[in-house]
Amino acid sequence: MRHFAFLLLIAGLMACNAPRQAATQPQADQGAKSAAKLQIAPDIRQRLAQFAPTEISADLSNLPDSERTALRHILLASREMDDIFLRQVWRGNPELQLRLQSAQGPLALPARNYFDINFGPWDRLAGMEPFIGAKVHPVGAGFYPEDMTKDEFNTWIQQHPDSKEAMESLTTIVQRKDGGLEAVPYSQAYSSWLESAAAELRKAAEATSNESLRKYLNSRADAFLSDDYFQSDIDWMDLEAPIEVTIGPYETYEDSLFGYKSAFESFVTIALPEESAKLDRFKKELPALERNLPEPDKYKNFGRGSDSPIRVVDMLYNAGDAKAGVQTIAFNLPNDERVRQAKGSKKVLLRNLMRAKYDQILVPIANAVLASDEAGRVSFEAYFDETLHHELSHGLGPGVITVNGRKTEVRLELKELYSTLEEAKADVMGIYNILHLMDTGVIAKSLRQNLEPTYLAGLFREARFGVDEAHGQGVVAQFNYLTDKGAIVVDEQGRYHTVSEKFPGAIRDLLHDMLELQATGDYEGTAKFLDRWGKPDQNLRAALKKLVVVPVDIRPLFSQADRLMRNNG
Ligand code: ZN
Repeated sequence: MRHFAFLLLIAGLMACNAPRQAATQPQADQGAKSAAKLQIAPDIRQRLAQFAPTEISADLSNLPDSERTALRHILLASREMDDIFLRQVWRGNPELQLRLQSAQGPLALPARNYFDINFGPWDRLAGMEPFIGAKVHPVGAGFYPEDMTKDEFNTWIQQHPDSKEAMESLTTIVQRKDGGLEAVPYSQAYSSWLESAAAELRKAAEATSNESLRKYLNSRADAFLSDDYFQSDIDWMDLEAPIEVTIGPYETYEDSLFGYKSAFESFVTIALPEESAKLDRFKKELPALERNLPEPDKYKNFGRGSDSPIRVVDMLYNAGDAKAGVQTIAFNLPNDERVRQAKGSKKVLLRNLMRAKYDQILVPIANAVLASDEAGRVSFEAYFDETLHHELSHGLGPGVITVNGRKTEVRLELKELYSTLEEAKADVMGIYNILHLMDTGVIAKSLRQNLEPTYLAGLFREARFGVDEAHGQGVVAQFNYLTDKGAIVVDEQGRYHTVSEKFPGAIRDLLHDMLELQATGDYEGTAKFLDRWGKPDQNLRAALKKLVVVPVDIRPLFSQADRLMRNNG
């Protein structure tokens, strides 16, 4: 799973971006296609400007030659994921890409760049609205015949129950055959790219001197050809290597028709053992942090597993689904429940992507909306620690609960409100826990001056993704609650600052209220809480308007990885 906030963000943008005028001229018919001019949205440059181009690189100076060679082959394998994913988004993409390459005119280059960012002609920041032509995005993406309906699929399975497993498989596409449907395994549908990727992974396996990496690379290469990913997911959990690589079909968000089909992607990253060790120090504190939560002891939950490893890495390259649209800074895999039962899951935090977003987005936001002394105290260290403790907080507090003698889960009781409250809880609990760890000397007290301004700038960053839809409410609720308690103040110029003396108490009260809702599985109470606190006021709306000039995300550029792929150095 991707870190939830980053998925929301896409949904949020759909809501907050005013519908834009796409070109509406009728598309050329099939015969005149090659000669037809592509209709490009006139605001393509503004769309592109939402993504700040940013070089992404990692320190490879500690890698011995064996691992550099392995890395080069891993990159070459990863590149194949782009070609597969392009087809998974839409089967017509390769042909459109060719036409785009020969397109002329002032909009052609921005359109090509925006096509690359989005892996197709649909704008991922604007609800998959087309920015080239007027074709509506097929909900089944490239996984099913475009004209196939849900009904046709379900009826086919009813009439051919033997085909059910293959048709619904994570790793097949569905095609038309002799007037009916057939499931084609990925290993066949994408054979040329998967065979080439498998060959590169085997070369990398030969080169590396790290046993766990060799094992994963070989078993993942096998999986590309057999469609059986189980063993390689297990091996990925056991990976302990300077190169931390994740490559294969994972998330199913691209399949909006059924959510069955997994999209190919890759993250090639360099492990940061000293950062992971710092995290392990925090993980040791988890039982103490649970004990310290502002809730009655009877709600405290010491049974939640905290064994799942968290790795901190620098990303060198990503490809496919991972690269499309908004960049993830954290992911949690694998999704296969059988592997999660056996081995848990692993969370990977991409430190240099956090840094890039901090520089390109968080700092400009702080400068635009915070009081100047406050903006000057925003720091990357605080942002990083707040992100870490947000992640750790998902593992603390009520999970499995008892409501009227019935054993259940917070998630099941709060239904569609769950993730809104849980994400807000993780923000607030992260701050609460950092404050506690400062009191107990685990985190340096000097970070305190950076903590609140960085948190406040982070709230604005989240609020940009839509304050008027469900998930934005959890962000706005933090603003309003803390403002009500006097911990956040806005001045006459509409600039915000925090009030240090009031902040810890307000955070504690807010967390207490959220935990109470979770521990009692109070759906009605959660709805009331979000309704009471989740409405943006005029000041907040005015502040958010100032942020239109700040990029929404980064567009990673991979000069270092490209050099490695070109020559061995
Ligand atoms: Zn989260």
